[in-house]
Amino acid sequence: MPNRREILLAGTATMFGCCGCRSAPITGRPQLKLIPTSLEMQLGQQSFNDVVQSVPASQNAHWQQIVSRVGQRIAAEANQPKFQWEFRLLADQTQNAFCLPGGKVAIYEGIIPACQNEAGLAVVMSHEIAHAIAHHGAERMSQQAGVSGVSTMLGWMMNDVTPATKQLAMQAFGTGARYGLLLPYSRKHETEADEIGLMLMAKAGYDPTEAPLFWGRFAQGGSTGTPEWASTHPSDDRRAAELTAKLPTANSIYESSNYRFGKGEALV
Ligand SMILES: [Zn+2]
Repeated sequence: MPNRREILLAGTATMFGCCGCRSAPITGRPQLKLIPTSLEMQLGQQSFNDVVQSVPASQNAHWQQIVSRVGQRIAAEANQPKFQWEFRLLADQTQNAFCLPGGKVAIYEGIIPACQNEAGLAVVMSHEIAHAIAHHGAERMSQQAGVSGVSTMLGWMMNDVTPATKQLAMQAFGTGARYGLLLPYSRKHETEADEIGLMLMAKAGYDPTEAPLFWGRFAQGGSTGTPEWASTHPSDDRRAAELTAKLPTANSIYESSNYRFGKGEALV
């Protein structure tokens, strides 16, 4: 016999007219997604507007140019014809980055030193883009829907985006200082974003061996240590080991890519 939460979720899925079943790209993992992509993109755009209005754009034109170029190369391999890509470098020293549904990418200046070079930046951007193309935010919102109640879902359906809904969306999509690269998704989503991201950067022509190196530098940058981080984030050793195990596949994708940018230009 289904419990109340399952009935609510099933009812909501029916109201949306979508079966809610799909699978993630590259890994093929089955997913529950009750949020229609159009609404996901609308919430993504609104969350992005909020962030770029509250955090000033970077004045470093050279870095912004590199962020745009790396982003465009990864986006070209992401196969998302409906996305309207945008790549912003923000003047904020937090070690963070995110990509919202619809392809709105923000990189914080504070992450650039850990990137060191274009390939390091490609690790960050492809990881964040992987979260978006695998609809991790919508999956998380779908999982939270039973807790938050059907009234919130009805609000989304009626285009009535309340501040509470917006807050939920911003948390689910990984914006805000405590989300994105810093404290984002479940371990399952993080590991999946690592794998998808690794294959994307290799396809785009960036040397995938930079991925475990980047996460090592990121860990040394003072991002670890909070209990939340420790409980939700793959340990650096485990992350590096998992990425290293996937390098042979990524390397063969890189070898057969039409592009060969290697580590690219130095950033610092
Ligand atoms: Zn992540």
